[in-house]
Amino acid sequence: MRACPISCTAVKQQFSTCSRKPKDVNQMTRGNPCQLPGMLPNYDPNDNEAGMKILEDLTENVEQIQQRVFEEIITRNARTDYLKGFLDGQFDKQVFKKTVPVVNYEDIKPYIERIANGDSSNIISAEPIIELLTSSGTSGGQPKMMPSTAEDLHRKTFFYNLLVPVMNKYVDGLDEGKAMYLLFVKPETKTPSGLMARPVLTSYYKSNNFQNRPFNRFNVFTSPDETILCSDSKQSMYCQLLCGLVQRQEVLRVGAVFASAFLRAIKFLEDNWKELCSNIRTGHVSDWITDPGCRKVVSLVLNKPKPELADLIEHECSSKSWERIIKKLWPRTKYIEVIVTGSMAQYVSTLEYYSGGLPLVSTMYASSECYFGINFKPLSKPWDVSYTLIPNMAYFEFLPVKEKNEDGAQYVQCNGVCKENCMEKETEKEDVETVELVDVKLGQYYELVVTTFTGLYRYRVGDILMVTGFHNKAPQFRFVHRRNVVLSIDTDKTSEEDLLKAVTKAKVIVESLGILLIEYTSYADTSSIPGHYVLFWELTSKGNNHLPVLDPKIMEQCCSTVEESLDSVYRRCRRKDNSIGPLEIRVVQHGTFDALMDFCVSQGSSVNQYKTPRCIKSGEAINILDSRVVTRFFSQKAPFWELV
Ligand code: AMP
Repeated sequence: MRACPISCTAVKQQFSTCSRKPKDVNQMTRGNPCQLPGMLPNYDPNDNEAGMKILEDLTENVEQIQQRVFEEIITRNARTDYLKGFLDGQFDKQVFKKTVPVVNYEDIKPYIERIANGDSSNIISAEPIIELLTSSGTSGGQPKMMPSTAEDLHRKTFFYNLLVPVMNKYVDGLDEGKAMYLLFVKPETKTPSGLMARPVLTSYYKSNNFQNRPFNRFNVFTSPDETILCSDSKQSMYCQLLCGLVQRQEVLRVGAVFASAFLRAIKFLEDNWKELCSNIRTGHVSDWITDPGCRKVVSLVLNKPKPELADLIEHECSSKSWERIIKKLWPRTKYIEVIVTGSMAQYVSTLEYYSGGLPLVSTMYASSECYFGINFKPLSKPWDVSYTLIPNMAYFEFLPVKEKNEDGAQYVQCNGVCKENCMEKETEKEDVETVELVDVKLGQYYELVVTTFTGLYRYRVGDILMVTGFHNKAPQFRFVHRRNVVLSIDTDKTSEEDLLKAVTKAKVIVESLGILLIEYTSYADTSSIPGHYVLFWELTSKGNNHLPVLDPKIMEQCCSTVEESLDSVYRRCRRKDNSIGPLEIRVVQHGTFDALMDFCVSQGSSVNQYKTPRCIKSGEAINILDSRVVTRFFSQKAPFWELV
């Protein structure tokens, strides 16, 4: 056993680095310290004190743990095709930083493609890559694929287990009831060589680690696993809500991973409560629930006719206003667990309406590449949330992001987001030096770069973070925004470039009729569920300044063409998940974009450098556009999407 960087002796004894590497994670016995991946202390997840102690130790010994993580990753993988090209047998961190480049997905794509095509040599990792995790970030319109190893599931389990003592520290009695978490699996596919490719959460929920998790009295769900694992998302949602309603008196917290998914569940409830009540009244699950696993477990939960419960739910749901509906239907609920940071912040006010002011808890910050950080103050307001990066998850580096130039001003004002949106060009420079986790500075902005246990080296995650404080020696970060994303409703991430490409294709349709698109911008309209993309178009007839007569069919075709041209995550959300509504084009009066420019200039943008913002977030700017809308059109068909 190697020297452990964590000071606590009890924890130290449980640290291990196992040289015997099991081939299949399903063969691993959970809880056996010898078989835990290195750097993960073993403890009883029901033991809050032990969990808190581990968190204190991890956050006290950041520097040593980061060094150890670095050494472990590099020693294991120095002979991989990827690293040996750079390191030439040297394990030193300075050499690593000098010779291994900071990369984007495009740089590693050829290596990932080799793995996807069945090359099983040590391409990027000495551990076998057992599956590829499809990210919501895309490359060439398709999801990026992140490597995953068997042992990484244990790292994720370790991370999830640490969330429990943090929550227990702030909320009492979580072992006196259940959590109604609405969790879903997404479609999965296989690469040409037969490797599984699926989203990270689908991979986790389908793993032994999730399905055979030991009982934890602080983490009992109302949704039976069969309902979570059902691949038909409608049946899954229906059954999970039915189970949650039947067990309403036991529910202490409700949630989903992202705010958008939780609001989708509320909308589903609005559309289906009568049928759900009828099932509760009769004790019989609707016939269209044909998934055998779901039928069986839901019938068991339903158990027998419950007319009084059905009356009560019917009474609440038939009320004209759904304000505070969560509190009314699940009266013991203490908080709503959903991520409301980053692009999900746009849902805070809607969630507050339905919840009647229950705390909104964003517990963690994670991705397909790696799980990063935990919110140590889960009851803080959404805009105050910070995540503490957990130093044994990966080797973290940070690219300083400086506040940028004058044309930033227009984004500050018109985009209403903040100055952070204008900082990216700074990081495009290849030669910017990275900063270590222990060296980040309070108040500074950084882009996160990770070296993971699964074969990513100095990989730019694409997230911009700001240092807000420290927990012991571990820095805490506010999630600021994702690089290059202008529109997002659910897990979609549309960049300015994606939008431009899509609009360019669509405008060809009107151009062939002698109509010119002279300006456009966009915003994510989340005032209804599901939200949808709105494009503002200023059109003119060729040769004069008049607004042309528009054929609705043609304009609807433009809406569809934009949708067809957006990436596969957008199209999946729109077609398969129904988490995005039909795209809308609002045609505005002549001169509207001049008015927008006047507004931006009045807010401090430089006239000389003004460029139309391609996405608007400021309410005032949206009002300027909206007040000049002449006509609006919606896409009439969901775009094509298939698993590839
Ligand atoms: P994916 O690769 O599809 O799993 O998406 C991961 C990305 O989602 C991250 O890199 C972030 O941009 C975003 N994300 C994940 N967790 C959070 C969070 N707690 N707050 C804000 N954004 C998040």
